[in-house]
Amino acid sequence: MESKEILWKKCLLKIEEQVPSESYSAWFSPTYPHVLTEDSLIVAVPNNFYKECLQENYHELMGSILNSLTDTPIDLQFKTEAECCPGEKKEEAPALKQSEPQLKVEFTNPVLSSINPKYNFSNFIVGSSNQFAHAAASAVANNPALTYNPLFIYGGVGLGKTHLLHAIGNAMLKRDPRPRIRYLSAESFTVDLIESLKRDDMPSFRNRYRPLDVLFVDDIQFLAGKDRTQEEFFYTFNALYESHKQVVLSSDKYPKDMMSIEERLRSRFESGLVADIEIPDLETKVAIIYKKAEAHNKSIPQDVAIFIASNIKTNIRELEGFLLRIIAFASFTHREINLELTQDVLKEFTYDKNKNFTAPIIIKTVASYFNIKVSDMKSKKRSREISIPRQIAMYLCREYTKFSLPDIGRQFGGKDHTTVIFSHKKLTKIINENGSLGKSVKEIIDLIESGKTS
Ligand code: ADP
Ligand code: MG
Repeated sequence: MESKEILWKKCLLKIEEQVPSESYSAWFSPTYPHVLTEDSLIVAVPNNFYKECLQENYHELMGSILNSLTDTPIDLQFKTEAECCPGEKKEEAPALKQSEPQLKVEFTNPVLSSINPKYNFSNFIVGSSNQFAHAAASAVANNPALTYNPLFIYGGVGLGKTHLLHAIGNAMLKRDPRPRIRYLSAESFTVDLIESLKRDDMPSFRNRYRPLDVLFVDDIQFLAGKDRTQEEFFYTFNALYESHKQVVLSSDKYPKDMMSIEERLRSRFESGLVADIEIPDLETKVAIIYKKAEAHNKSIPQDVAIFIASNIKTNIRELEGFLLRIIAFASFTHREINLELTQDVLKEFTYDKNKNFTAPIIIKTVASYFNIKVSDMKSKKRSREISIPRQIAMYLCREYTKFSLPDIGRQFGGKDHTTVIFSHKKLTKIINENGSLGKSVKEIIDLIESGKTS
């Protein structure tokens, strides 16, 4: 039988294909296989919160994936780390403790380090949009803690931040499997903290982070407005930084533009190297399409690749999603992948994306993007902080929904249709100028299209 690590790794790879990447990193990255027998697998999870959520939401999916990988049925169970290693603090695993005094079991094996082997430097396409971030990432991978610390990668949704973080981790582990590396999203960090506080068990929380050699925290913008988590992250960061351990962070915003993040944290973020990833140009997108198709053992004609690259404007995750649809559609219908088929798939794809745009979702997403209340969007308040988001939301309703002008006005607490026309004109101009507000609008469109609107 395969080792539990290999079986679990295969299972995770399949899960990752089937769940959104945010859920994957929040719920699955911190898990690891505890015991595998002939007919059961016990998976260790950080705490009861994870246990209940995984049990409720993912047990069925994980069970069926697991059984597709083994010859005999395997019963899947979750146990918290405390249940797996009740005596850990005392006498557990003495042999290991002797040789590696501080090493916690979960970090000794690269398989358990939560770095996803799927994302590496060799399948990352470098173009002018990401050249700088890529160079910085390779430098850090080759000389952890000696070049840029922290490395802060920022860029819009789906542009390769997570990919680069894992690529650094994989390169480090390939050279030397020993370092204690942990990748997690800021969301997982927050969940872990909340649970530890609830259990009044901060020492073990700190033990999970402070002995690390390398810490990756993805989507750090999630910490905005979460003061207690920021404080704890600040201590974790300092502890690692001061003992010359590498920290790599990602965010969808430049540190300075991160509202509701404490100044001392922001200045920490900027104290190493800040590298951005921009929207890729057409050639880079085409190269990425070829690379992704290759990973699926498919070859894509050039006109199809160019068509995809020119129709999917900004988001590489979406580019990939679209490509997968084309591959799947061609295989279901036994048609070859050509321009005609691609155009058919695009129609449906665009329809699917646009159905996410409803007035309440637009209003809610814009409000949360700018950290204001939905009720403010509908109010008569005219300060800039409120009126700009309101105009953006009106613009999006006009562009993406079938509402009439008066209907749109009504969605905003009974505004006149001329106000909607004015907002639409103003925003069209702003978007064409492509300044920072125009970029924000594009980010909001991305969020709604990809369904990330909570
Ligand atoms: P982000 O974390 O910035 O939202 P991801 O790293 O999750 O984006 O990237 C989204 C998808 O696009 C992933 O499947 C990733 O492999 C792919 N991708 C992004 N940039 C590149 C690139 N330069 N080369 C190859 N694939 C890329
Ligand atoms: Mg990401």
